[in-house]
Amino acid sequence: MVGGGVVRRRITVRGVVQGVGFRPFVHQLATRSGLTGLVGNDTAGVFIEVQGSREVVDALRAELIAHPPPLARIHSVHVADVPTKTETHFVIVASQLSTVGTSSVPTDVGTCDECLRELFDPTDRRFRYPFVNCTHCGPRYTIVRGLPYDRPATTMAGFPMCADCEREYHDPADRRFHAQPIACPACGPRVWLESGGARGGDDEDAIREAVKVLAGGGIVAMKGIGGFHLACDATNPDAILRLRERKGRKGKPFAVMVKGVEHARRIAEVSGDEAAVLTGPERPIVMLKRWADQGEVDDGIAPGLNSVGLMLPYSPLHHLLIDDRPLVMTSGNRSDEPIAGDSADARERLADLADAFLMHDRIIHTVCDDSVVRVFAGHEYPVRRSRGYAPLPLKLPRPGKCVLAVGGELKATLCVTVGDHAYLSQHIGDVESIDTLAALDRTAEHLLDLFRVSPEVVACDLHPGYLSADWAAGFAERRGVPLVRVQHHHAHVASLLTDANWQGGPVLVVCFDGTGYGTDGAIWGGEFFHAGTGTIERVAHLKYVPLPGGDTAIRKPYRTALAHLWAAGVPWAPELWPVNSAVASDAERRVLRQQLERNVNCVPTSSMGRLFDAVAALACVRHEVSYEGQAAMELEAHAAAAGSCEPFPFGVSDSLPIELDPMPTLSAVVAGLRRRLPVEVIASRFHATVAEMVRVVARVLNATAVGLTGGVFQNVTLLDLVSERLRTDGRTVLTHRQVPCNDGGLSLGQAVTAGGIQ
Ligand SMILES: [Zn+2]
Ligand SMILES: [Zn+2]
Repeated sequence: MVGGGVVRRRITVRGVVQGVGFRPFVHQLATRSGLTGLVGNDTAGVFIEVQGSREVVDALRAELIAHPPPLARIHSVHVADVPTKTETHFVIVASQLSTVGTSSVPTDVGTCDECLRELFDPTDRRFRYPFVNCTHCGPRYTIVRGLPYDRPATTMAGFPMCADCEREYHDPADRRFHAQPIACPACGPRVWLESGGARGGDDEDAIREAVKVLAGGGIVAMKGIGGFHLACDATNPDAILRLRERKGRKGKPFAVMVKGVEHARRIAEVSGDEAAVLTGPERPIVMLKRWADQGEVDDGIAPGLNSVGLMLPYSPLHHLLIDDRPLVMTSGNRSDEPIAGDSADARERLADLADAFLMHDRIIHTVCDDSVVRVFAGHEYPVRRSRGYAPLPLKLPRPGKCVLAVGGELKATLCVTVGDHAYLSQHIGDVESIDTLAALDRTAEHLLDLFRVSPEVVACDLHPGYLSADWAAGFAERRGVPLVRVQHHHAHVASLLTDANWQGGPVLVVCFDGTGYGTDGAIWGGEFFHAGTGTIERVAHLKYVPLPGGDTAIRKPYRTALAHLWAAGVPWAPELWPVNSAVASDAERRVLRQQLERNVNCVPTSSMGRLFDAVAALACVRHEVSYEGQAAMELEAHAAAAGSCEPFPFGVSDSLPIELDPMPTLSAVVAGLRRRLPVEVIASRFHATVAEMVRVVARVLNATAVGLTGGVFQNVTLLDLVSERLRTDGRTVLTHRQVPCNDGGLSLGQAVTAGGIQ
């Protein structure tokens, strides 16, 4: 390659370009075009030097931008001319450690079609091998110990490749060229079964035995990609009940794994968009509308709800285990503990929960729960962003300070901003115990270590009692960097504006959730803000109601209902459910009344979540909850069953901030109950009322665009009603697409606020 018109260019590519087959792709492209040069990974991404005639070099650059490998996401491409060299080939060079910039860590990818074909091909050397993977699929983030993403920096380092795997790994024409987790039965990880402390069969035997245990109604703890699952037969009510009892999980829904989309359709309604998400490489749990007759699964899966979370197999082991029988696949933990990822730890923690353990010897470096998404208006609407998505970055409108944000208390995630990228961690859990706090600590260290950054600012919630905020304060002090406390709903708003990539002027953002510590010390949660870059103003909220006992009310909606009745001036008449002595004892009610009358230990709240609880208790949908949001979710199921109805009345104040008074609503609910309106109608009319509140505030403030965020908007029935009203009035509606509207999205909002970006 010498002569006229020969150029050599150095092309640097940033984004998700490691672990997605980018180097083999460039190698094949260059070799096919007769170009020479090199390609390699560094900590910032992929670097390419390519030499040949100007036109061919430019064509290669254009081609890699236009048609990169399917899992790659290019954020930037930089091209520079460099001196030509004497060389004869195009080669893949060893990874380089550079000190500047940060590459994205690749995510875990569900088994691809080609690997699946090999898995069930008796003539293939990986026939029925539970760890088959290639450049297009397999574990990534969960096995990565460091960057750049190469085998020695993963937990596959302990498995030396056999000659056959080595050949594939080094053959540019092979699908496994530089596939870091490459493995086969001769050299890779194995599975085995453990039961009653003894080791049973290996590989085929182990899988056969596990299937037998499941078919017999037993519970199997299965080591997977991101941690342990507890699995049982989803059509067996006894097995489900046993799992609930052992796990200490009363009513919270279980996710179910089904063999394919057709199987999913036997249980729930699956649209084309939903099928695409179910079968996508991220393989999340997709929340779907369950058939009224429950389809094939037992009602114990998701009691009282009209939805069900389904997912398809995403590891070869799942494909080998699952047949026509749908399986409950819930995270391997007791309620409120983090998911187990380490084999020894799982043996100890899950000993009383599982009848057998299906183990393997590939180490899970980072535990990662399954992700949960809904599909709303044709787009993904995340509920839990974890395996398959974490730690993919979100692109920020501009670079800001390097911030570490720790989220709130429930559904915590971490966020690290580097330049104009925000990296969100996997789901960590409810940071209410030492175990989850330790998980938060580990995740922070791992992310900062991976990206080789040291935060300039640490961000946390304003709440004085959060463990995560204490941790953040300690961390900031040790590092000698400032701590920024971001108000809960301000963080939700910033999260939405970043997620929706809103670059326009100030916009009205509605933030409805359960609990957030307000700047005035009250518990907020029914909030409206006028927000733009660097500015936020509370322009409307639900009128304060005194809540006796604060957090106790969260678990006992009847207490919230009694407080709302008291505030509305509705007498505690014995025919009302929360006044029924089967629900609350006379003594408890007496104490409650005294607290309210004397205003002792009462916290004022504007929480929309609590208003949902109050209505749910009044309508006898639920008096005590066993998981966050249960009463509201069950109320939604009733509302969805009724279709659309007329709203109840509510009050609107004249002055700013606007106060929305739900007391007329409460009185109307009580009147409706006395007229024996069906609970479905009460629930539906209440949903319409909340939607109408949003419409009225948007009209009064003449908002052109309205954002919707906060955990209450996981309720898609409400989301639908609100969006429809706003659009009818000609307003633009902003909703989440990449991060959850619930507290899982808080860390992003804290980070962009503290970093001066939003
Ligand atoms: Zn594959
Ligand atoms: Zn091998």
